Amino acid sequence: MINRRSFIGKVAGLGAAIPLISTIPSVSKPTQNGKKPIILCSRGENWAEKVLTPGWEAFQNGKDILDAVEASARVTELDPNDASVGYGGLPNEDGVVQLDASFMDGRNHNCGSVGALENIKTPSSVARLVMERTDHIHLVGEGALRFAKAHGFPEENLLTDRSRRMWLRWKENLSDRDDRFPPEDGDYELEKRPTGTINILALDANGDLAGCTTTSGLFGKIPGRIGDSPIIGAGLYVDNEVGAAGATGRGEEILRTCGSFFVVEQMRAGKSPQEACEALCKRIIDINGGEKNVNFNDRLVAINKDGEVGCAAIRGREGREPSLSFMSEDGIRTIKGTYLIEVS
Ligand code: ASP
Repeated sequence: MINRRSFIGKVAGLGAAIPLISTIPSVSKPTQNGKKPIILCSRGENWAEKVLTPGWEAFQNGKDILDAVEASARVTELDPNDASVGYGGLPNEDGVVQLDASFMDGRNHNCGSVGALENIKTPSSVARLVMERTDHIHLVGEGALRFAKAHGFPEENLLTDRSRRMWLRWKENLSDRDDRFPPEDGDYELEKRPTGTINILALDANGDLAGCTTTSGLFGKIPGRIGDSPIIGAGLYVDNEVGAAGATGRGEEILRTCGSFFVVEQMRAGKSPQEACEALCKRIIDINGGEKNVNFNDRLVAINKDGEVGCAAIRGREGREPSLSFMSEDGIRTIKGTYLIEVS
């Protein structure tokens, strides 16, 4: 168990150029002057190249930072094998996939989001259109769907056979007091509900920032529930003067701490992205009354105006550290973040 004291000690030691503890990314310097583009995602090496390459190519082709962010965000949304975002994402308790996404442009504080959006594979693109084509910020449910269709998005079934089977198994596993028999391969054992979501953050050659967070949300959620991902300041926040942050994990905790806004404001007050992410993890533990009450996880990623990045989680263990990947002129790099509570 890493107690708070030693955690803070490690955070305080981040001034060292090379972190002494391998799980602490510390201050990585992908840019020298903050003017070299960088795009990052809240995923490790398995996804890094696939997710970051389209965004990076958009930069290379002179496209706007919003195009770069969107190009990367759509990768997991369109991938049926990712069960936490977009098409193939895990459904709510009724077996219906409801997607949440947010988009923010640091240059002007413009933002847009969709919540509980059904039947559209790429909610990030719809969130961007809410930002660019309306005077609103949030569209949810039926209204968000109608807006997407008005912009030409086709309605499609988002439930893959894999996600349907996972949902059915979860449903059959829920209780021995309902009329469903237990799953053929299990016996009413409550399993960990898989989580996911992806944050994309970018800094372009002008030193401008933008970001997107997209998810299918909490698996088995009550229909209509939205998490932190579509809420500006919770699952995503971008401020050109300071930096950008995104969150994944238990959305309710991020919501009640205004998580991404908190991280950006910590950077504004002088913390590095790494320290700022860790400060939010600590805050969430504190408002829950201490580690003993924390049986969930949240993860934060952040980048500042200088291209320094950071990544932290509440819970982790060796081999299961939070990670982030970024692409810059120097290629792709994945780094492991810190965590506050060691779990077995
Ligand atoms: N933060 C997302 C939510 O609460 C879920 C996740 O990141 O796994 O909807």
